[in-house]
Amino acid sequence: MSGVWIRCAGAALAAAVGSSMAIAQAAPITLSVDLTDAPRKILHATEVMPVTPGPLTVVYPKWIPGEHGPTGPIENMAGFFITANGQPVKWERDKVDMFAYHIDVPQGVTKLEMKIDFLASSSLSGFSAGGSTSENLALLSWNTVLVYPEGTNASDVMFLPSITTPAGWKFGTALDKDGGLGQSTIFKIVNLEQLIDSPVLAGRYFREIPLAPEITPKHYLDMAADGPEQVELSKEHIADFDRLVRETGALYKSRHYGSYHFLVTLSNEVAHFGLEHHQSSDDRVTATTFTDDREFVLDGLLLPHEFTHSWNGKYRRPAGLATSNYQKPMIGDLLWVYEGLTEYLGDVLAARCGIWTPDQYKQRLSTIAAEYDNRPGRTWRDIQDTATAAQILYAAGGGWDNWRLNVDYYDEGELIWLDVDTTIRKMTDGKKSLDDFVAKFHGLGGNTGPKVVPYTFEDVVAGLNAVVPNDWATFLRSRLDSNSYQAPLGGLENGGYKLTYSDKPNPWSAMADAQSETFNFWYSIGLHAGKSGTVSDVLKGGVADKDGLGPGMKIVAVNGRAYTPDVLKAAIQNAKDSGPAIDLIVENTGFYKVIKLDYHGGERYPQLDRVAGVPDRLDDILKPQTK
Ligand SMILES: [Zn+2]
Repeated sequence: MSGVWIRCAGAALAAAVGSSMAIAQAAPITLSVDLTDAPRKILHATEVMPVTPGPLTVVYPKWIPGEHGPTGPIENMAGFFITANGQPVKWERDKVDMFAYHIDVPQGVTKLEMKIDFLASSSLSGFSAGGSTSENLALLSWNTVLVYPEGTNASDVMFLPSITTPAGWKFGTALDKDGGLGQSTIFKIVNLEQLIDSPVLAGRYFREIPLAPEITPKHYLDMAADGPEQVELSKEHIADFDRLVRETGALYKSRHYGSYHFLVTLSNEVAHFGLEHHQSSDDRVTATTFTDDREFVLDGLLLPHEFTHSWNGKYRRPAGLATSNYQKPMIGDLLWVYEGLTEYLGDVLAARCGIWTPDQYKQRLSTIAAEYDNRPGRTWRDIQDTATAAQILYAAGGGWDNWRLNVDYYDEGELIWLDVDTTIRKMTDGKKSLDDFVAKFHGLGGNTGPKVVPYTFEDVVAGLNAVVPNDWATFLRSRLDSNSYQAPLGGLENGGYKLTYSDKPNPWSAMADAQSETFNFWYSIGLHAGKSGTVSDVLKGGVADKDGLGPGMKIVAVNGRAYTPDVLKAAIQNAKDSGPAIDLIVENTGFYKVIKLDYHGGERYPQLDRVAGVPDRLDDILKPQTK
């Protein structure tokens, strides 16, 4: 194409790992982002792009790594003005590709100055396109404030980024500083891939804690919060994160970053999710997650999960997700490795480092096993399809989720990888485990800077066969392509446990229910209901479904008495065995009716029971590997 800028292949790694930029940049694109209006939910960027005269197309990043879909928030790009030598230059949007802008660069022009605003005013849902700022903090995702030349490789396009923050704010990022003055900071030149992979977390109440300081490369817990008290986590919790860093060394036997920053936003004013990067993670949680013990445990998987992605997802990446730029569609068919294995390893690490006790891990595992063992949607759609369709499933929600399915490759993937791990342990009498696979597969090449080493299904199978020969292809495919109603629970059985139900609430679910104020009647009458009686979902084929309940309805009364979760629980117990059926008065979009639930099985909650005669391989898996 013409109208092109400067390329600099090969410089990415040097810049990314923090060594000086030895390769001269004739002219990188400069990108200056002004965050001083972030509290008013608008970010201002100025991008100066070297060009040559003639037609040029620039594009706004569309497919966002880690989000596995075309989620670039172009609807919130505003104030796009282009000038050349002080004169306005007109752009025209492509009539088919909404992310592409066509420009005719005038004769004699060597650079374009572009103004881009990003409106950080979206709702608190969604991923990095969701709420990202408050009065006292801002999370800058660089992909929201830039365009780049169409058809280029992200690893070839060089950027010189800088930021200006509000007075008194500090920040954390994986980018290396190269200078600055006052509240303005210039970073070292990086390629577009590293730039988009390196968000900045800035805030007034900012705290940075070095983790496991004896280890190189260095690790940091960077926090920005709504208030100063929210970054005051206990010494014990800091020690958990120190051990997390050490345990990843024991597990992966390698690190693929120059330094690693957990960028944790503790705020009720932003979207809540985690987004992985090579050298950092964007972890957005509620304001009290680090200071409320219940929230700390319930959200305990987040940091181990996102950190694990540095190896599984960033360094080793499915070939279909290793695209060369942000306009090329991603293929998600191996997300049961990318996300499923990360879910498994992240949870194991949460237990090994002490965020969870082994009992908490097992309680949680029993809730996953039970949920996926009651998953009618699998009879029409296998888990492989949930991975293939990932790009349309992240935004899916609402009732009947158990029939449509969702991003099931996370938690069902976890069950499959537990099955793999315990099968290896069983076949080798405990001499080998999934840890051996991980050390080779993710530790390939030893310590490196951030780079992508793609893999295929066949590579995964070969890696497992290198640990212990088995028909792993059939092992995996038979689980991934299954249309069984039941979950693959072989990992529990090989681990020395079985899924059973009792009338005692599962402690993990009870904690989660108290947090979310949603109550679990799933394994008895087949529904979830809120504090006020609103039914959030109904299990297809369960008692409530057969007797006429649906999501969105509101249970007003139970056996003639105003609904509370405890009144419904008591009615379920009272109906047990030969007790009376449960009478509900239900409201649906302004209309009322009586529904009789002919159910006599009592309360049912999942738990794990130990199987005599099988080694407790779960306990072996959860043992810390470092002191
Ligand atoms: Zn993930």
